[in-house]
Amino acid sequence: MAKVPAPNYDYQTKQLAGYYQSAIKDILAELDRVDISDFRRANALATLQSISDILADLDTKSARWVSENVPIAAREGVINTLVSLKIAESVEQAAVIVKFNELNEAMVAAAIADTQADLLSVTQNVDRKTKAAVRRAVSYSIKYNMASGTNGRRTIRDDIKKRLKESVMTGIVDARGRRWKPEVYADMVTRTKMMQTYREATSNEAVSRGVLYAQISSHGASDYCRFHEGEIMKLTLDAPGPYLTYDELQATGEIFHPRCKHVYSPIRSEDLLSER
Ligand SMILES: [Zn+2]
Repeated sequence: MAKVPAPNYDYQTKQLAGYYQSAIKDILAELDRVDISDFRRANALATLQSISDILADLDTKSARWVSENVPIAAREGVINTLVSLKIAESVEQAAVIVKFNELNEAMVAAAIADTQADLLSVTQNVDRKTKAAVRRAVSYSIKYNMASGTNGRRTIRDDIKKRLKESVMTGIVDARGRRWKPEVYADMVTRTKMMQTYREATSNEAVSRGVLYAQISSHGASDYCRFHEGEIMKLTLDAPGPYLTYDELQATGEIFHPRCKHVYSPIRSEDLLSER
């Protein structure tokens, strides 16, 4: 039987994280140019404009990245089903006949929109934080000029420089209150979403062909995922048998977690019986 290679989106996700890294670097350089001894409203507006431009460019690049790459993950998810069910003899042959059914069309559109919104919240947050820090720098500049003695001035300058830098580094705070650097968060979001898209595309294609089960992949994981490697799962809630669905497996908190690399290959009921 032809083997489906494990999906790997390292190259693409690194490229996206790279967009974030270089935007952050540019913003930091912009903030580094801030002259505390003479930072007035006019200079502040120029700084804010430069930051907005950098972030707008980042948004454009990441939106394009998402609309190009999410469908790639979905295509590969469908190919996985076509090969696993022997509808195609090889990955190459499957690649020729792959097509999104209605379910997958809708899923891909939603996944693109979700991921873009998620990434947009990162830049919006950086935008908000840096703007607040820049405005604060204006009032610090006044304090700086009123302070007497080089020590007092140096303290004020170091403090505001530090705050400016920090404003960029906290990209986002998630639902659990954890702080993420923008590029790390963007990387986590996209890796997770690519794999999720792959899995959903696999399921949608299989279910539309009347296939209700799948077998979880194995790569010798060392985390809790290892308890589920090779396990049979249900692709729909109403499929008979003592198996868990994707959502139920995810709810165990053991597998299909953020950045999880496990996927599953659809398996026909008759093959499932012979397997047992
Ligand atoms: Zn895993």
